[in-house]
Amino acid sequence: MVTTARPAIGVLALQGGVAEHLAALERSGAEARPVRRPEELAAVDGLVLPGGESTAMTRLLDSSGLREPLEDRLASGMPAFGSCAGMVLLARDVVDGQEEAGGQPAVRPFGALDVIVRRNAFGRQVDSFETELEFAGLGPVHAVFIRAPWVDKTGDGVEVLARVPEAPDGAGQQEAAGRIVAVQQGPVLAVAFHPELVSGGERVHRHFVQIVRAH
Ligand code: GLN
Repeated sequence: MVTTARPAIGVLALQGGVAEHLAALERSGAEARPVRRPEELAAVDGLVLPGGESTAMTRLLDSSGLREPLEDRLASGMPAFGSCAGMVLLARDVVDGQEEAGGQPAVRPFGALDVIVRRNAFGRQVDSFETELEFAGLGPVHAVFIRAPWVDKTGDGVEVLARVPEAPDGAGQQEAAGRIVAVQQGPVLAVAFHPELVSGGERVHRHFVQIVRAH
């Protein structure tokens, strides 16, 4: 793929926190574009899958005609960055994806990352919380979790980039400590939190822009 100084990076714009990712990408040296249609996907060098609802995005991926072209791009190694619901969609397998009547799983992930992701993992008491994470290669990152997933299992080629620290502020739940919340496998990056919502969070976007440039 092209190694332009300012790569074209799309944000999957079917649902969820699109505008914040577009702004963070622009601040991070990319030319950011919303992606709603197959032609728009074909024109970008990498794609962000934002937070939102992975169930709703699953349905919209089918109705927009984006599922197949996106599957193809991911299979051929397009760099991708999933945040929260986007992490759920990139996983190989999803635990706790609610079953719809008729047995169709409510979330159909792409399998671009060899991880098993648990949806809404942090549970009711800690629905949403914020904490400082030590992010490999980037240092401390302020992380906002909103009905976030975590990674239950990683395959061999997956690098763990961040975990919830031992005593997360306000989380009040031992189960959360040590959980994997940022991973990378080749050109595919995923985080359980929302770097697009905090100042300083664009270090994570810049890391993704570097991945796209290097690709
Ligand atoms: N709970 C949502 C889901 O599983 C993710 C929440 C988010 O993206 N902030 O799709």
